[in-house]
Order: sequence, then structure tokens, then C-alpha cells
Amino acid sequence: MKAIRQKTKVRAKHRSGRSNVRPIHLAFLLQDWEDAYNVGGMFRVADGCGSRELIFSGRTPSPPHPQIGVTSLGQHRRIPFRSFESNEAAAIALKAEGYALVAIEIAPEAVHYAEFDYPEKVCLVLGNEEKGIYGSVMAHCDACVYIPMLGKGRSLNVHVSAAVVAFRAVFPGSQG
Ligand code: SAH
Repeated sequence: MKAIRQKTKVRAKHRSGRSNVRPIHLAFLLQDWEDAYNVGGMFRVADGCGSRELIFSGRTPSPPHPQIGVTSLGQHRRIPFRSFESNEAAAIALKAEGYALVAIEIAPEAVHYAEFDYPEKVCLVLGNEEKGIYGSVMAHCDACVYIPMLGKGRSLNVHVSAAVVAFRAVFPGSQG
């Protein structure tokens, strides 16, 4: 009983934490991903940060897919998604729809993810697990942000990096 009351209190506190959200129109482009478990994890990230949709391009696996369901915990039934065969065509179409494309990538021109002003209608672009964002897709991006790595590894898991950046974009004053 005490545990239930405790949980109710925690939930109320977390609900109040939503009040300083920046209500941007947020989407993600998953460029040529290979791992369906990463796609499932990405559906949970999209749900958690209030994203409108996921866009898949190239080889990125899409629902229905048994591995996506394992890591999405059902969020693939809630978050709208669409697919493009061509990575470049996806980038071009999204720009035509008014999305600013912000690449999340470790690249020379990238700026610190916490020092960037995210546009009102933004699609965060995430690259292939091994090869990253292709030059042909990067060419359509309006900006690029990176997450500084403090350990020995060169990069984060792709959907983890999506979460770090997305939560910063929607809670610009609360994290750092
Ligand atoms: N090229 C990387 C491997 C790609 S990681 C390497 O050399 O290790 C896959 C994707 O995750 C990247 O395309 C990028 O979108 C994202 N990513 C991972 N870590 C990142 C970081 N520290 N900063 C920005 N993007 C990152």
C-alpha cells in the first residue's frame, strides 16, 4: 500500500516536470539502419520525447518485425512511421515538407548538442550503425550536432544518441 502511494507521488512529480517542455514538431530519420532491435528502441525514444513520427530509409527494418516488438514495448503501434527506399529521396522529401534536417554525427563541422538552438520543426538524422550518415544525405542537412564522448569508445549506440539529443531539444533549460 505504501509502495503504491509512493509510486503515485513519483508519477505526480514527473508529470509536473513536463511543464517546461518546448513543444517543437520533432521527427527522426533512421538512415539505412541494420539492426531491428535498434529500431524497436527508437520507437520507445520517439514516444518518450513526444516525437510525431519516424522516417525509415534504405535498409532500415520496419514493422511488422518480431525483433522490433521486443524492444519497442508496443510503441511501434502508437508512433506513426513511413519508409523511403532511397536515403537521399527521404532527406529531400522531408525538407520539402518544411523539416529542418539536423544531423546527429561525429563530424568536423558538428556543434555541441547542448549549444544548439533546435528549430521549431526538426527532423534529427541518425546514421547507419557502422558507417554513420552518408555524405549524400549529409549534403541535405542544415546543421550537425555531436555528443562529446568522455570514455574510450568512439560513439554511442545510435538510438541512445537520438535520446540524448532529442531530450535536450525538448527540454532546453533543464539538462546540461
Ligand atoms: N562512425 C561511428 C559509428 C556510427 S554510430 C564510429 O566511428 O564509431 C551510428 C550513429 O550513431 C551515427 O551515425 C550517429 O548518428 C550516432 N552517434 C553515435 N555516437 C554519437 C556521438 N557521440 N555524437 C553524435 N552522433 C553519434
